Amino acid sequence: MTVRGGAPAGLARFARGAGSAPGPIADVAAPAPPAAPVERCELCAERLDDRHGHIADLEQRAIRCTCRACYLLFTREEAGGGRYRAIPDRVLHDPAHPLSRAGWERLQIPVAVAFFLTATASPSEAETVTVTEAETVTETVTRAEGGGARTTVSAFYPGPAGATECLLDLDAWNRLREEHPLLAEAVPDVEAIVVRCDAGNRDCYLVPIDVCYELVGRLRLQWRGFDGGEQARAGIDEFFDTLRRRARGFDPASSPAGGPR
Ligand SMILES: [Zn+2]
Ligand SMILES: [Zn+2]
Repeated sequence: MTVRGGAPAGLARFARGAGSAPGPIADVAAPAPPAAPVERCELCAERLDDRHGHIADLEQRAIRCTCRACYLLFTREEAGGGRYRAIPDRVLHDPAHPLSRAGWERLQIPVAVAFFLTATASPSEAETVTVTEAETVTETVTRAEGGGARTTVSAFYPGPAGATECLLDLDAWNRLREEHPLLAEAVPDVEAIVVRCDAGNRDCYLVPIDVCYELVGRLRLQWRGFDGGEQARAGIDEFFDTLRRRARGFDPASSPAGGPR
């Protein structure tokens, strides 16, 4: 097994297995204590309610629960020296460009549900190409986007060990991206594309990354056996039902990453 040079690309902490990940995934996965402690803003300790916002901590590769004031502070990219980014609240789908089965199959993802995360890469990370053991092969390649920050894209799928990173054929991904403008719309580090493609479903949504963390944490608890079992399948159905209700239609002409919650 090889370890990536430097920090993992983006929030690749997401990819780590059971037990080791501190923060949001572990929080979600831990059994609820008898009396849940009061949740507080991780920046200013203000008391939080259930519907608080989240920010991505790009330095620690973590997601932080925040009060509204702290959240709003980091909706501007340059705030906090770039360390923190507010995670937008939007869920988008693109009925005008439904994902084709052929397009999905070109990606050769071995599972029915996967996330695609684009991350801003530092120059040292940009050179990293890594292969890990056996079936969980990892590859990150970098491209320049509109002359701006260099980014990497990675694919993950949920399972009993949390999220597993899988090989992504970048040519196939870039081709799919040209056919489906929604895939290019996700804001690096804070939004992801989630796809479900199986016998009965073909779903593709742009989602906030905290939503991915929640699903991964939940499925890790529910997963039984080889394919997840009934409970995990029900969890996935529920997840996509919620996205369907929340989603707005993607309009390439409209403003980017919607405002604060
Ligand atoms: Zn706060
Ligand atoms: Zn939270």
